[in-house]
Amino acid sequence: MTCYYCNRENQQIPDGGNCSACQVHVCTSPSRRPDGRFHGDRCNCGCRRLFCDPDLEPHAIDEHGGTVATCFPNFSLQLAVPAFAAASKGISTLQRAPQEDSQINHFLNSVTPGWRALRTATENMVDAAGIVGPAPRPFDRWHVRLKPEFLTAGTMERVAVLAARAMGEAWSAADKKSRSAKLKMGSPFHTLEKFAAWSNKAEPLTPTAIDPWLGGIQLRGGFDFEIPTESGPPLMHALSNVEVPRTSQAVAEWLVAGLVHRSTAADEVVAY
Ligand SMILES: [Zn+2]
Ligand SMILES: [Zn+2]
Ligand SMILES: [Zn+2]
Repeated sequence: MTCYYCNRENQQIPDGGNCSACQVHVCTSPSRRPDGRFHGDRCNCGCRRLFCDPDLEPHAIDEHGGTVATCFPNFSLQLAVPAFAAASKGISTLQRAPQEDSQINHFLNSVTPGWRALRTATENMVDAAGIVGPAPRPFDRWHVRLKPEFLTAGTMERVAVLAARAMGEAWSAADKKSRSAKLKMGSPFHTLEKFAAWSNKAEPLTPTAIDPWLGGIQLRGGFDFEIPTESGPPLMHALSNVEVPRTSQAVAEWLVAGLVHRSTAADEVVAY
């Protein structure tokens, strides 16, 4: 059988089994798509069950009291790394490609805070219709798409910190063997190691932690992206100073508050 979500993008990709929650056929890692994407993952928290994209977050939170990053590290890394790059670009320049806004939205819906919390937080806003746009076709039954005009410099700072935390949690939860194999491949992966220690609050980020990622980098597995060098200082400032709330609902509300007070938040970024 072929993956339900890939089918909805007109791609015929063999599935890795059925989702344990909704039963759709879903593709898994390693991806057979040219863009390296996959739509499902097996739970790393002991149960080893397979879930599809929108069912990962409800499973991780409701059944394990964990996060998507800790229960599904591979899935989380494929979304958190490009979202971090796109948000980092947004900190120094508001020019982002539509694809980069999609990467940010996908990360927020599927990794943290998750589509359920985003839905509640945006529904609570009086002007919700102005913030939320139509969802992309493969995910139109659940995805909350934040419009480009709300993905501002102030919000991008929050998204970058969220994505870095998810990368750190996912890296800590990832299989030890694959981690040590990747660490031998070079300095970009050492940054993930530093994010892991920082997200566990084991140690603060060193001032040079993200230097290997500035300019352009390529991580194996389709992670090819660019973080503008001028984003380095505001990014380090945000990573060292922005406190992220813990629960999904608190994260979603904090994020939406950043969207609504966008001019003030943007001014704060400019003031660095
Ligand atoms: Zn798929
Ligand atoms: Zn499912
Ligand atoms: Zn599980």
